[in-house]
Amino acid sequence: MATQKLLLLPGDGIGVEVMAEVKRLIAFLNKTGLTAFETEEDLVGGAAYDAHGKAISDAAMGLAQAADAVMFGAVGGPKWADVPYAARPEAGLLRLRKDLGLFANLRPAVCYPALADASSLKRELVEGLDIMIVRELTGGVYFGEPKEIVTLENGEKRAVDTQVYTTHEIERIARVAFDLAKVRGNLVHSSEKHNVMKSGVLWKQVVTAVHKAEYPEVKLEHILADNCGMQLVRTPKQFDVIVCDNLFGDMLSDVAAMLTGSLGMLPSASLGATDPTTGKRKAMYEPVHGSAPDIAGRGLANPIATLASFGMALRYSFGLAEAADRLDAAIAAALDEGLRTKDIASAGQNAVSTSEMGSAVLKAL
Ligand code: ATP
Ligand code: MG
Repeated sequence: MATQKLLLLPGDGIGVEVMAEVKRLIAFLNKTGLTAFETEEDLVGGAAYDAHGKAISDAAMGLAQAADAVMFGAVGGPKWADVPYAARPEAGLLRLRKDLGLFANLRPAVCYPALADASSLKRELVEGLDIMIVRELTGGVYFGEPKEIVTLENGEKRAVDTQVYTTHEIERIARVAFDLAKVRGNLVHSSEKHNVMKSGVLWKQVVTAVHKAEYPEVKLEHILADNCGMQLVRTPKQFDVIVCDNLFGDMLSDVAAMLTGSLGMLPSASLGATDPTTGKRKAMYEPVHGSAPDIAGRGLANPIATLASFGMALRYSFGLAEAADRLDAAIAAALDEGLRTKDIASAGQNAVSTSEMGSAVLKAL
């Protein structure tokens, strides 16, 4: 079996604790013979700053470029509150995203049956929920130029952010969404504001053209972004894949996240372009949560977000969909048994530790 190269970047705080559970999972999978993961590990964030004075070293970036996939934990914490801006822990994450060209951010919102009562919505609205939000991550109003605050002649100030999208940027994110829909529920909602934004007009045109030329078998719906937010909290199960720009994706993915319960449960993937010669694509997988300095070092962190992120790596980088399904089922089984880390425990319930939850998932697997 060909070896698969994984770079592990645990980072800071609970990033280290939750990544330890991924390492146990990798060791188990390798032992079954199903996978032949070769892992390397390096520093990122505050840990890298302490060692090298930078949030990620060039050597670590080189490993990330060479790896088949990167597993990222979390970065930051009060210890690094005063480091120079360019070396702040988050700069490590931004450099990885930028240098690897990770333009597509995938955030699933899956409701595990055992946690349906932890949702902000009624159980019947979220039970069985399985949505994938595909957010464009490297363009749009967060990056467009000009981006400035200028002082006018009359002394007033004027702030400018610029929303910019090109055909190419919209085409490639649309393809990610359609490809996902093909292996999921075969439905894409493309969300924009073509009624008030030129970028929305182009977005709708380009998504429609990609659909017609390359994915006619997938069902496509267009939905205005504000309506999409409303529909997500009204009848979330009508959605399968939602594709949107950077700004709307930022908001809609947070809305969708709260339908499923805790921050400690939410995985994510960030994908780059497929190399036409090797057919491989850069990818990084990470929990949505941060380094949680308030609970770090105490074995309280929920490892499920990171384990499920690794599941996304199995599915989207390594073509191991069946193994990914089994991992998801093992997570559901551990929850069905009643195991809860502190973030998902109900009041008065005894919580299990990070490694106890990891062990329960492994046992079920
Ligand atoms: P960042 O800016 O890095 O995203 P943040 O300020 O959003 O960080 P997090 O570190 O994600 O914050 O933590 C927010 C809250 O959620 C904290 O109280 C933290 O303890 C809790 N939390 C986050 N992740 C987990 C987890 N995996 N398990 C348990 N609790 C968690
Ligand atoms: Mg945060």
